[in-house]
Amino acid sequence: MRFADIIGQESVKQHLINSVKDNRISHAQLILGREGYGSLPLALAYAQYINCQHRTDTDSCGECPSCRQISKLSFPDVHFVFPVPPTGSSSVKPISDTYMDKWTEFLSQNPYGSYQQWIDFVNDGKNSQGVIRVEESSEIIHKLSMKSFNAEYKIMIIWQPEKMNGDAANRLLKLIEEPYPKTLFLLVAESSEFILPTILSRTQLVKVSRIGDSELTDGLQRALNISRTDAESLARISEGDFNRAMQYGSSSADLLQNFELFKKLMRTSYSFKVQDMVRLAEELGKINREQQKSFLTYSERMVRENLIMNRHLPNMARFTADEGEFAQKFSPFIHPQSALAIAKELDKAYYHISRNASGKIVFCDTIFKIGQALRSKAD
Ligand SMILES: [Zn+2]
Repeated sequence: MRFADIIGQESVKQHLINSVKDNRISHAQLILGREGYGSLPLALAYAQYINCQHRTDTDSCGECPSCRQISKLSFPDVHFVFPVPPTGSSSVKPISDTYMDKWTEFLSQNPYGSYQQWIDFVNDGKNSQGVIRVEESSEIIHKLSMKSFNAEYKIMIIWQPEKMNGDAANRLLKLIEEPYPKTLFLLVAESSEFILPTILSRTQLVKVSRIGDSELTDGLQRALNISRTDAESLARISEGDFNRAMQYGSSSADLLQNFELFKKLMRTSYSFKVQDMVRLAEELGKINREQQKSFLTYSERMVRENLIMNRHLPNMARFTADEGEFAQKFSPFIHPQSALAIAKELDKAYYHISRNASGKIVFCDTIFKIGQALRSKAD
């Protein structure tokens, strides 16, 4: 990946490029920001820039053998660590290499993907969480102690270090404290909250903020081949998060469908007519699982934005024109208590749908609970 392939983030790119030009590459860096802002693509482009044989002042060449191998994730001196689920066998303790093929496939489809998307992708419908285990730290030490193949820097990209268990983090800490020469750790994290403070204090922070609306619009227009107006609408509601924008609507038809279903969900729940509620649960149960998940994600956003509207902050609410019109009448029902209750139900539904529960049963419960929440009075 080249810097040019990344949407926006010009100041972070410049910071990373300058560190190479000025020859002050810090040996442990924490690239911190939501996945959808591009934190992992930035780490990939940085690794490629550092090892490019013909880099310019602005980017890697994309053509030399290093660039080609790094973009295929097959460069022997750029290593990856990421959370992985258990394997079927209890005797095999999985490490990242166990899942390298899947990882390569995942990144080639969406380098902006989230932890949950990765886990869903690698799990194949099974219900397990990803962890970075202590065996992984041993593997990291082993890899970094070997002589580099041909690169100036050996680079270890650790994605989601939040998912390291304590033993793994402690072993890694030693390595960060006493690094091998010419090795570089790039920790790519979404939140610093779950990272050991001792690790945080030994890494240099590279903060990745949301993508600017106009840059995101450009990126979406290119990625989805949609009109400028549709791309602007999507950008406006995605809070600078490319991955989220892609989830909201890989086509504007999805966005429209989600909006229609959301209106129906809220009206039917509020009406509390059992027959209508069951009929809607059946209808929602029939759409495919990915669409159900996309609809639930969409609904969570709508509830959040209507709450902002309800709190009399209309300028901060992010709506398309039609959504905004609907919110004029709907937002009075979304006060903090009902918003919290509904968000909890949507989240629960997402969890169960992801784990292959029956859509009809899940939605039946959700509709009923949303109805109760909408009819509750604000304190
Ligand atoms: Zn190159």
